[in-house]
Amino acid sequence: MTETVSTPKHRELSDGLYWTQECLPLGTLTELGQFDLEEWVEADEDVHGCQNAYLLSDERNLLFDTLTQPNGDDVVELIDDLLEGESLDYLVISHPEANHAGNTFTILDAYPDATLLVPGEAAGYGSGHGAEHELYHIASDTPADVDQVPNEIRYVEPGETIDLGTHTVEFEAPLFPDHSFTLWMSERTTNTLFTVDWMGFLHQSSNCVTLASDLDRDVAVEQVFRFHALAFPWMRFADLDAIERAVDDVRDRLDPDVIAPAHGMVMTDGLDTYLDRFLEAVEALSREGEPSNMESKLEYILRPPEVDR
Ligand SMILES: [Zn+2]
Ligand SMILES: [Zn+2]
Repeated sequence: MTETVSTPKHRELSDGLYWTQECLPLGTLTELGQFDLEEWVEADEDVHGCQNAYLLSDERNLLFDTLTQPNGDDVVELIDDLLEGESLDYLVISHPEANHAGNTFTILDAYPDATLLVPGEAAGYGSGHGAEHELYHIASDTPADVDQVPNEIRYVEPGETIDLGTHTVEFEAPLFPDHSFTLWMSERTTNTLFTVDWMGFLHQSSNCVTLASDLDRDVAVEQVFRFHALAFPWMRFADLDAIERAVDDVRDRLDPDVIAPAHGMVMTDGLDTYLDRFLEAVEALSREGEPSNMESKLEYILRPPEVDR
């Protein structure tokens, strides 16, 4: 099993909206003994996990998330290429996790005029998980103290908007947060909803930066289930009615034309089908959380330690 993250690939989704993706090969199906993915991947085919970051190139330029630290220099090089010599104006971090925020200060260092926008209150808790969070500082050559950074740093809240020229982004309270301080974003002209960890799934190694509707095989419930079981541990205990209401809220209020997740493929067509698959996946996940199914896990967690006395 290999564990080296690929260099970032990219694709222009619409005029000035770029999808960048780095992949983590997770091995083949036969190596992934615990997975049951025959529906969507051949036994000898590599499976990829991924991280996505999104760049909006306009009168003002904005990057949403950073990819991971092994790709720091490549990320800066790619942004430079895509912006064709223009500077980055805004770096937005969805939440301070290493695979979303790991290159924060590498990117700020390359663009000293860029403003860092970080979630403050986000899904409900107070400020304090923002620019000072240690995960923004994991690169060894970045300053430990944000006061030493020339960049402006600002907290942003749901409802705030930024006018980039043709595009306008708005920050959204996440309906499915993987952390209390996760912030979603939407873009008005393309009607894209950036859902961070929600609606992620693994993909086939031949299908990197491929739209969900263009994948070699359709996205299976199993793919959606596996990802959410991992990224949203709370979901197996969630109230299914509340989950359905939140999905209805996505359909009716946010009503996106494009869903752009951080760990899956961009969905541009038949969004209702993917949302239905998510509901099927979360129903299966909630069965896993039933007390009878939790007994063996609790026995394992609560077992006495095997130590020599
Ligand atoms: Zn994530
Ligand atoms: Zn890939």
